[in-house]
Amino acid sequence: MSTPNCAARGMAETLVLGAGIVGVCTALALQVRGHAVTLIDRKAPGQETSFGNACIIQSEAVEPYPMPLAPRALWAIATGRGNDVRWSLRGLMAQAGPLIGYARHSRPAAHARAIAVYRRLIPDACKAHAPLIRAAGADDLIRRDGYLELFRSAQGFDGGQVMAARFRDRYGVGARVLDGAELRALEPSVTADLPGAVHWTDSWTVTDPAQLTARYAGALTSRGGRILQGDAMALHRVGAAWRLEGPTPVQAEHAVVAMGPWSAPMVARYGLRVPLLLKRGYHRHLRPERMPHRPLADLENGIVLSPTRDGLRLCSGADLSARPAADPVQLRVGMRAASELLGPMSAAAGPIWTGRRPCMPDMLPVVGAVPGQPGLWAQFGHGHHGLTLAAVTADILADQMDGGETWPELSPARLMG
Ligand SMILES: Cc1cc2nc3c(=O)[nH]c(=O)nc-3n(C[C@H](O)[C@H](O)[C@H](O)COP(=O)(O)OP(=O)(O)OC[C@H]3O[C@@H](n4cnc5c(N)ncnc54)[C@H](O)[C@@H]3O)c2cc1C
Repeated sequence: MSTPNCAARGMAETLVLGAGIVGVCTALALQVRGHAVTLIDRKAPGQETSFGNACIIQSEAVEPYPMPLAPRALWAIATGRGNDVRWSLRGLMAQAGPLIGYARHSRPAAHARAIAVYRRLIPDACKAHAPLIRAAGADDLIRRDGYLELFRSAQGFDGGQVMAARFRDRYGVGARVLDGAELRALEPSVTADLPGAVHWTDSWTVTDPAQLTARYAGALTSRGGRILQGDAMALHRVGAAWRLEGPTPVQAEHAVVAMGPWSAPMVARYGLRVPLLLKRGYHRHLRPERMPHRPLADLENGIVLSPTRDGLRLCSGADLSARPAADPVQLRVGMRAASELLGPMSAAAGPIWTGRRPCMPDMLPVVGAVPGQPGLWAQFGHGHHGLTLAAVTADILADQMDGGETWPELSPARLMG
């Protein structure tokens, strides 16, 4: 059902399909610009991928993660020696096209093009979240003191120092190198004797990402936006408008597809074929004796440990197997690694969570008009950085929908032909 008083006031009726962090931020950005927004999800806001992430708004992530192509890294993945990527042959075959595209885009020249775009997005990641955090009264969920990347070997630490200097000098990212003693002074929960760490100081962290999404959604409704439960696949065109059937039918001038990992089948109906690569991840919560103050990334073991309201969240890297594991080896290895860092600990009660990162082979989200479909907009494919990029890409899309700047590098048109 359309809202007649909005139409009378000349506000665009807009449907946002998907109430993950990306959809909710987009709904807020559109609402601020005067759209009458209805947000649709089959669940409550923030209950899928945006529920389970590692909680970091990554202001340092100027270089999106390429596929490791060095022979040693590929060998470690192939032989299952690393813990950051797992796979099965059936899983690889099922996603062969996107994986080949990802390998192609991971070569240095193509990766440099992705970095050039990230350099424009990342500096605004926290800035774009700030007004939403304020409007949602969510300051109690946010920390603004960065996270730590830990190094276990002297060789790893040498590489970390080089990377920190490069990121500081080239991108202006806040990075402090800590030796072992400085690390223990800043983060006494780390009892392992490590050579050092890099403190990425500009990143913000969230103690409950699902709650952050829910609070943002609360800000939307408190300003007159609507959230309806429904199946986005029931969308269809009626003349120049979009209509979503359901218990409360909605008709709108614009429809934004923000369905995270479920977006590709939706836009395929409208002629846009998207090679979305779904990288599964897992988490479970742990009960350490002493909770760290900020997230700890132990990338040599393929894990991130984030303090949350439910305990210490152990997040895995990517699993490219065909099916989710009931007892993922990445979490078992991760739990051992966590105990080495912080001392013995038990797992908190509760199920293992799993979700899939919606990644694009070129490492860039898909943001903009769907070609040949007036009033249909894409806003998905944020991959490893959906929490980070949700608010900044929401502003980009909302500006574009109101006739502002287009970003060809992010546009769905790049996928045509
Ligand atoms: C283990 C892990 C760790 C991560 N860590 C970080 C991190 O530290 N920092 C960071 O920036 N990012 C991180 N990410 C990535 C980030 O979580 C995702 O990029 C982000 O959550 C994607 O948000 P989204 O809104 O696009 O998707 P989702 O949160 O999945 O939202 C999509 C919504 O669409 C809805 N939907 C789907 N189909 C339908 C339908 N037919 N009808 C109605 N509704 C539908 C779903 O119910 C869902 O609510 C991590 C991801 C994982 C898996």
